[in-house]
Amino acid sequence: MITILGATGSIGCSTLDVVRRNSDRYQVFALTANSQVELLLQQCLEFKPQVAVMADPASADSLRRRLLENGSSIEVLEGVEGLQQAAGADEADLVMAAIVGAAGLLPTLAAVEAGKRILLANKESLVMAGALFMEAVSRHNACLLPIDSEHNAIYQCLPHNYTDPIARAGVRRILLTASGGPFRTTDLAELKSVTPERACAHPNWPMGRKISVDSATMMNKGLEAIEACWLFDLKPQEVEVVIHPQSIIHSLVDYVDGSVLAQMGNPDMRTPIAYGMAWPQRIDSGVEPLDLVKIGQLDFEAPDLERFPCLQLAFDAVAAGGTAMAILNAVNEVAVEAFLNRRLGFCQIAELNREVLEALDAQPVDNLQRVLDADQRARDLAQQLLKNQRFGWKGN
Ligand code: NDP
Repeated sequence: MITILGATGSIGCSTLDVVRRNSDRYQVFALTANSQVELLLQQCLEFKPQVAVMADPASADSLRRRLLENGSSIEVLEGVEGLQQAAGADEADLVMAAIVGAAGLLPTLAAVEAGKRILLANKESLVMAGALFMEAVSRHNACLLPIDSEHNAIYQCLPHNYTDPIARAGVRRILLTASGGPFRTTDLAELKSVTPERACAHPNWPMGRKISVDSATMMNKGLEAIEACWLFDLKPQEVEVVIHPQSIIHSLVDYVDGSVLAQMGNPDMRTPIAYGMAWPQRIDSGVEPLDLVKIGQLDFEAPDLERFPCLQLAFDAVAAGGTAMAILNAVNEVAVEAFLNRRLGFCQIAELNREVLEALDAQPVDNLQRVLDADQRARDLAQQLLKNQRFGWKGN
């Protein structure tokens, strides 16, 4: 049985599509959302989970009422506690962690502490609390499978029984591919005034709004580089980012003998999701077979750090260590939200991120409270800076 944290999101809906195609193999134990009552209601009526959770208590009340109106007696929980309960419940063996942002940390950790097989889409948990998270995975004997397409590709290209440290498996480095997002070739002067609509129109991947903006700034690749360091126990210099606009090669592993293994496929998240759900077997995901002749050409280029300063900021945060990564993650969430609400220009996302990262001291990550405190301090400072006239909407 599977629990899907963030069922109403882009990853959540793709996961349910894979469940639908493999209904003889998978049953849903719990579905969770924040406030999208009508979509969660429809999902509950179709997949008949035992439990539904709305993080927002008022939305939980609405869902209870709407379920009763539809003759359903599914139990509805609420709040972070409800999410943690659904993530750690005995009935579920698989947990898809697909809540967006820092809100995913505590529910995902609850799944880890219950020793589940966790399909990790919520990269922010690892970015914020990587050391504690990975230590908890090993202490509770949880099984962590990466769903981010790049990390899933790397996982598929590593030897199945690789040991720690990864160098023993003969890995020289990993190559993390990036599409470059919607603004890879946009005139730099034009970037200042791009709209949220343009930033969210990703050329290859339909995704939630937050990760779409992160892809446009390439902060997403920075967060992924941090995620890769924690997942595969790599040093930052062992992770190289390569722009590959077609998004067909999802990432590569470079071995010391000169072999470079790549995982390829159409850009569709149902592939890594199905891989995680069925591992070590394979199941139908509904993804079209790859037509290489039709694609014709695969291109590669180095990332331009002037265009994508957020990518460098992520590597700076890794170098600073400790809570610096939680600080960067938190200010970036505030900045992206402000941009989506037209309170901040696109290029100012990086400026706000840099100011907060530089202003706050990084502390060692020795307990979860330190991470949560760093997250809060970064959000508070970011909100304060947003009131400054230097920051504001410049576009249409
Ligand atoms: P979406 O924005 O599409 O969905 C987010 C989900 O999280 C929704 O179900 C939402 O509920 C829920 N949610 C939002 N805020 C809260 C909260 N405070 N408490 C509980 N639940 C909440 O995001 P995506 O599906 O795009 O991304 C999810 C995660 O997966 C992110 O960490 C992202 O980085 C990662 N990821 C996504 C990829 C993609 O292709 N989309 C690819 C690789 C990784 P509601 O609908 O009610 O708001």
